[in-house]
Parts: sequence; structure tokens; C-alpha cells
Amino acid sequence: MRRHLSIGAKWALRYAVVTFVSISLLGIYVYDRIQRRILHDAELIAEIPMRNVSAAIRRSPEGIEAAEAIRVIEDAINREVGAADRDLRLGIQFFDPNGHLVLARGSLQENPLPLDSDVLGDRDSDFWEADLGESSPFYVVSARVPGGFVQTAIYGRRFAQHASYIVDGFLLALPITLLLTAGLGWFLARGSLRPIQRITATARHISGSNLDAEVPTTGSGDELDQLAVTLNEMMARIRESVARIRRFSGDAAHELRTPLAAIRSQIEVTLEKARTPEEYDQVLLQVLDEVDRLARGTDALLRLARSEAGLDPAGREPLDLRALLVEVVDFFSPLAADRDVKLELRAAEAVPAVMGGREWLHQLFANLVDNALKFTPAGGSVGVELAADPKQGAVLVCVRDTGIGIEPDQRERIFERFHKVDASRSEAGFGVGLALAREIAKAHGGSIRVESEPGRGSAFRVVLPFGS
Ligand code: ADP
Repeated sequence: MRRHLSIGAKWALRYAVVTFVSISLLGIYVYDRIQRRILHDAELIAEIPMRNVSAAIRRSPEGIEAAEAIRVIEDAINREVGAADRDLRLGIQFFDPNGHLVLARGSLQENPLPLDSDVLGDRDSDFWEADLGESSPFYVVSARVPGGFVQTAIYGRRFAQHASYIVDGFLLALPITLLLTAGLGWFLARGSLRPIQRITATARHISGSNLDAEVPTTGSGDELDQLAVTLNEMMARIRESVARIRRFSGDAAHELRTPLAAIRSQIEVTLEKARTPEEYDQVLLQVLDEVDRLARGTDALLRLARSEAGLDPAGREPLDLRALLVEVVDFFSPLAADRDVKLELRAAEAVPAVMGGREWLHQLFANLVDNALKFTPAGGSVGVELAADPKQGAVLVCVRDTGIGIEPDQRERIFERFHKVDASRSEAGFGVGLALAREIAKAHGGSIRVESEPGRGSAFRVVLPFGS
């Protein structure tokens, strides 16, 4: 199996690489500056004897003989070589105006150097490095003086030592600094990752049966604390929906059990003795009725489950509610006529479109009209009203009946799932119609509420915002 580096190790490595690059760049820069400084110092030091010899030549009286002049120069050169530090290994040469060597003393006596050709050209002095076969180079100054040229050379070992001290210092400091920064990186990363370890440990404990675990928060408000808070909020939502699903399936199973038990006992009682074909017919019709009710109930449950999972926003379209309500009213007209209940639609002329799922909104209004017809005795009436409320930016639909009404303490509870005000008066409903209606209205950004007067009737008001 491939081993993965921990975040702590990755940060340690990153710190080390960044430190290595920056220290190396700094080292190169500092070394270059010091090298230049050393060369500058070497030039100054090599220039001093050259200037002294040149001054001695200038001081000698004019018109002296050539041999006398050479002696003055020789004295000056000897003085300089004798006074110089031994490990500088000073060497001095004097050339005549044609560039021929006249005198050489000190280190240049055994290892004579040619005159720097540049000085023979048009420049007055030059500084250069000469390799005389020793471990370090010689730094040489060549200069034009009255009556010829002077060339001085000093040994570069002392200067090279300065540079190598610095290089050695860097080479020693580099691994120590690398180790320190890598350790620091690892330590810092571990410290800031501790909350993540706590989150991982909590997540490990979370399972389908244990959703109560909470990630500890520090209250610091930093990114990791925010992550912990967000995870806790997410867990709370999951807990809530799992609890809802459990409640829902429990309630649904309970609701289905009653009609199934009724069917079973009907069949059992019928089978106890021989029956006439007419009796069988009657029992089968009753069973068929129960099965139809079950089918309607499971259908409603399925729709409720689907609506809770969220209505598909892709299936939404601008809807003309007037046309939709005409369809609903037309569908229920035969039933209303059958029950001797007057059903009519009163719709304002121009009502803006609503963005929504056609089938869902159809379901919503069908549930309301169905209930209104169910709970309105013969001779009553059910009115469906449609109007726009531009101030609210919404469309209002009111389903009003002159039925039995709803007691005040029941008005909110009827929107709960499986809640029936009174099983005996309810026409064998499942108690999910209004829960589904509210779910659909909510999914469309709207709301539904009820006003009612027991014994005189109810009005269900649906508010749906205009489609954009
Ligand atoms: P069901 O499928 O049983 O009709 P609903 O959720 O549609 O369930 O309704 C819940 C309860 O609210 C019903 O049992 C009924 O008692 C009451 N209810 C709904 N609409 C009306 C109405 N228009 N008039 C009186 N009671 C109503």
C-alpha cells in the first residue's frame, strides 16, 4: 500500500525547502558582496607600496644621472618590501618606459611577472590577478610612474581565507537551520491540525444509529472552528430529517395496518361458513372499496415523500392559475352535483403567472376542493376565488366552503401528517392531504392557512409569489 505523508510532514518539508532556497540565495548574495569588498581591499593594500615608490621617484632631484635614479628607485623598493607584512609576500618590479624589466624585489624576484599590457596602452594603472602556480592567486597593481612603470603584487591567501570562513559558516548554519525550520513547521502544522483530528475522531463515531455525536468547538471563530460549527449544523439537519423519516415510516405503516386488518377480518368472517353468490359479491365489493382507499392512501404517501425530498426546480414553468383552477373545478363538478353542493370559480381577469410545477399545484388545489366537498353537507356551496395582490407580489387562491368548519384548537393540527380531526366524520381519509398541500405551497415559496367558523364553514387561503 502506498504510504501517504501526513500534513505535518508535508509542512515540515515545505518549510525546509523554502528555508534552503532563501538561505542559499542570501548566501550567494552575501558571498558576492564580501568577495567584491575583499578585492577592493586587496587593491588598496597593493596600491600603497606602488604610490610610495612613485612618490620617491617624483621627489628625486631633476636631471640626475640614470644610474643614480635607478638607485633611488631601488632604495624605495627595498624599503617597501622590507616594511611589508611577511605573509603578504609583497613583490615590486620597475620597468623602463619601453616595458623592459629593470628591477624586481620580494616575491616577484623569483617569479617575475610581465608588465600588464593594458598599462602599456593608454590607461595609467590597472588591478589584476596573476596565477604564479601557488594555491592562491597574487593581486597585482600595475601603474605608470615618471620614467617607467611600477608593478606591485601581494599574495591572496589571507583574503581567500576570509571568504572561506564565510562559506564554512554558511555550510554549517544551513543544515542546522533546515532542521530547526522543518521541526518548527511540523510542530506548527500539528498544533493547527489538532481540531481536524478531533473532527475525524467524532466522524468515526457517527453512524446510522448514533447521530448525536458533536464535534467539539473552540469558540475561536477561526476556519477550523467554523468547519466544526458547520459540521454540527449539518449533523443537526441530518438528525432532524432522519427522525422525520422514521416518524413518517412509522406513521405510514400504522395507517396501512388498519385497513389491512379490516380487509383480513372481512375475509375471515366470510370464510367461516358457506355463503350465497350475492353475499360473496357484497363482501368483494367492500374489499374492493378498502383496496381503493389503500391505493389512494399509498399514492398520497408517495407524493408526500416525493414533495419532502424537494420539488424539481427544472420542472417549473410559468403557469396560468386561472386555467389550472378551471381544470380542477371541471374535474370536481360531477362530484359536487352528485352531492348537491354548488361549486363555482370566481377569478379576477388578468392574474400574473406563477412559476411552478403544474402537477403539484393541481394536486394542492384538488386536495382543498376535495376536502371542501367532503365536509360540506348537501345544499351548501364551495367557492374557489383567484385574485392578484400586487403589493405582496403574490397570487391569492381561496377555497371557501359552507361546511362543518374546524374547531380553533384543530386549525394548525390539521396540517400535520396523519392528523384527522375525528375519524368518524372524516370520509376515510389518510390525513395527509393538507400536509401535502402545505409542503407544495412551501416548495413554491408560498404559504397556506385556514380561517374557519365551526358549523358555518372554512376558508383555506393559499399565497403563491409571482413567477420572475
Ligand atoms: P384527509 O386525507 O383525511 O382529508 P387532510 O389532511 O386533507 O386529510 O385533512 C385533515 C383533516 O382536516 C381532516 O380529517 C378534516 O377533519 C379536516 N378538514 C380538512 N378540510 C376541511 C374542511 N374544508 N372543512 C372541515 N374540516 C376539514
